[in-house]
Amino acid sequence: MNAEIIAVGSELLLGQITNTNARFVSGHLAEIGINVYYHTVVGDNHDRLEQAIRIAESRADLIIFSGGLGPTKDDLTKETIARHLGTTLEMDELAMESIEAYFERAKRPMTENNKKQALVLKGSEVLVNENGMAPGMLYKHEGRVYILLPGPPHEIEPMFQFEAKPKLIHMLNKENVIISHVLRFYGIGEAELEDRLDHILEKQTNPTIAPLASASEVTLRITAKTDTAEEAWQLINETKKEILEVVGQYLYGYDDDSLTSRAVDLLKEQNKTISAAESLTAGLFQSELASVTGASAVLAGGVIAYNEEIKISQLDIDAELLKTYGVVSEQTASAMAENVRKKFGTDYGIGLTGVAGPDAHGGQPAGTVWIGIASESGTDAYRLQLSGMRNTNRIRTVKLALHYLIR
Ligand code: ATP
Ligand code: MG
Repeated sequence: MNAEIIAVGSELLLGQITNTNARFVSGHLAEIGINVYYHTVVGDNHDRLEQAIRIAESRADLIIFSGGLGPTKDDLTKETIARHLGTTLEMDELAMESIEAYFERAKRPMTENNKKQALVLKGSEVLVNENGMAPGMLYKHEGRVYILLPGPPHEIEPMFQFEAKPKLIHMLNKENVIISHVLRFYGIGEAELEDRLDHILEKQTNPTIAPLASASEVTLRITAKTDTAEEAWQLINETKKEILEVVGQYLYGYDDDSLTSRAVDLLKEQNKTISAAESLTAGLFQSELASVTGASAVLAGGVIAYNEEIKISQLDIDAELLKTYGVVSEQTASAMAENVRKKFGTDYGIGLTGVAGPDAHGGQPAGTVWIGIASESGTDAYRLQLSGMRNTNRIRTVKLALHYLIR
């Protein structure tokens, strides 16, 4: 089964809102192994919507619509589909009741055009809207499946996830189980990852492997479709092993892990504590750790030492050292890490110093960063040369510090 998502709404074309509905639905379809080949966006216009439907029918067997189910004149998705498929709309009693109940609860009189929302494609399965009035629909016609969903994200998201998706899974095959497992990598770009895994990615059909890159990491989603969960996991584990043989050193976690949650978990498992001396990140590193539940077990605290004076007075950094090597140097990052570790009595001490940009500083170009990590077994320092904007560089510094910490 392959899918196309048609988002209906002129506000999308005017650049007033982002098509997050297509992203949401696509993510869930990928999870159950349905390929999405096209996203289409079309305005609130009968003829152009019908044209989009015709094109979608030429290349997809599952067509999912978002938006245009409301009560106003410009909401014309179901009318257009009905006309196109040569079917009619009929009143759905349950939907009508829930609309009436909605108005009763809101203590507002119901207007005539709100009744329009209870109209559904004749012969469709109605999808309940828990958060609004317009019901969704699943309609089968000439071997294709049409799913109509409302536009507001807080309506479409639960409706798709809890009403439509289970029906799709059921349709895919009653016997099948679909299991996904996500591998998370850091410190390697998407292009390089794909390049190195080319031989594995190329031949893969079951399980499928879907790479995804975000600003700070690359993930591979492995999805297996088989008769039993056991078989699915067997397929996943075989593929996972092949992948990790090539790029295992960049793996930092699985599924819902993040670099930060991994760092907190690892420290917790090992019963270790951490503190940080932060210059360019000015507290971001500690704030990031603190965003994870249970961080208090591992994060002691730290020092924001933005200027040299404070580095000297609060972290006991030797003024001579700063003069000799510069604030952004291996020696300063190491001393910051060692001294904060000592001061706070923690197992690990992190020292972050660098030039966030956009201007150079102290003879160092923008994006030069040193990360110091001090522990019982000594101090390591890492030099970064980042190329982002000021705040991107600060965030990347934090992520890379976490990466080096858990490596
Ligand atoms: P309503 O009953 O609220 O009119 P509707 O099903 O008719 O819902 P639209 O009128 O198309 O949907 O959109 C309603 C609102 O939902 C939009 O103003 C927008 O805020 C949001 N929305 C619509 N489409 C999308 C989309 N593709 N991605 C994210 N948000 C969207
Ligand atoms: Mg509307």
